[in-house]
Amino acid sequence: MFFDSHCHLTDARLFADLENVLNRAESAQVTQILSIAVDLDDAQRILALCDERRVFASAGVHPASALEWNDASSAQLEMLAQNPHVVAIGECGLDTIYDDSHLEFPGATRARQAEVLEAQLEIAARLQLPVVIHNREADEDLLSILQNWREKLSGGVFHCFSSSPAIARRVLDLGFHLGFTGIVTFKNARELQEVAGMCPLERILIETDAPYLAPTPHRGQMNEPSFVPFVAAKIGELKGRSREEIGQITTNNARKLFGI
Ligand SMILES: [Zn+2]
Ligand SMILES: [Zn+2]
Repeated sequence: MFFDSHCHLTDARLFADLENVLNRAESAQVTQILSIAVDLDDAQRILALCDERRVFASAGVHPASALEWNDASSAQLEMLAQNPHVVAIGECGLDTIYDDSHLEFPGATRARQAEVLEAQLEIAARLQLPVVIHNREADEDLLSILQNWREKLSGGVFHCFSSSPAIARRVLDLGFHLGFTGIVTFKNARELQEVAGMCPLERILIETDAPYLAPTPHRGQMNEPSFVPFVAAKIGELKGRSREEIGQITTNNARKLFGI
């Protein structure tokens, strides 16, 4: 069995065909799915999809939406996070693309993104929920923030890990898991395959990040949770394990991290 630890079921493309998406996941033995929120309204919408055994939610604000964070947001997030279906805070983090120094996608400054991240880390620490970290070209800033929170947090995952092996080592030393997407299946992803090779099995999560980043052989198509076994197969190849073994191990890892 497989656990898709990061996808976006409320994204319009998946949501439009949700029943079939979930049925195909079940047929592919993807028995558990963590649907990740990008803002507080999204968390609310995900909660409407949750059940006791198959679909779980996170609650949090993506750095691309950092400008939406206001004085009421901490209290709102804390309330959402107390719902028993919410098993993580996030996704939260830093993203250079949405930094307002980028003219193409003007968003919050890096400093504002960091404030919004820290407000969410505080809630994660208080409620003892793991955090789902989003990182785009912000390795050093994230590592230095998380270093300060390390004692208070109850772990988390750098989702869609795509930094260097040296950064992976430091993320692991901080006690975090690494989330691998379909990128690890791409031919040109040698460095990431090296990261998967060196990451201890008990720290690996698999994810689709659907509808983005479909793995080979579906690269370029819309991604969905039923494709997560391709990620397990590639990691199995790198680790000398079967796809099923990696499925079982990463499912256990996710259940343990998210308290499911
Ligand atoms: Zn992300
Ligand atoms: Zn995501």
